Amino acid sequence: MDNRALIDHAIAARQAAYAPYSRYAVGAAVLTAGGRTFTGCNVENASYPAGICAERTAIFKAVSEGERRIVALALAAAPQEEQPPFGSYPAPCGICLQVLSEFAAPELRVLLAKSREDYQLCTMRDLFPKRFTAADLKKEIR
Ligand SMILES: [Zn+2]
Repeated sequence: MDNRALIDHAIAARQAAYAPYSRYAVGAAVLTAGGRTFTGCNVENASYPAGICAERTAIFKAVSEGERRIVALALAAAPQEEQPPFGSYPAPCGICLQVLSEFAAPELRVLLAKSREDYQLCTMRDLFPKRFTAADLKKEIR
């Protein structure tokens, strides 16, 4: 799947964001090694820490459907009332980067989008160069 198509999925997923507290809507789309696309939005909660980011929603949907290798991530985020092109390039939070690192290689293609035409292309290594993995625990994942 090309970059623009994956970004389109992230922008569309953002429409479902449940963000009555922050009013900051986020959409994410992940492409798996199996060629499937999963999307997610942020889902907030009155008990703030119970909410979840768009990236983890998409990752957990993929893993729960049997996909354990993510090869690309697109992210689109802005205050709820904004439509593309957004004002800034979004970045995943540290918790989402840690979760991603469980299922993606350092070369993961990451698209930080203001719009389908205007995005930054980077890798997991750029965003999260020193990651904590199963290797640190001396564990072998089966
Ligand atoms: Zn996050």
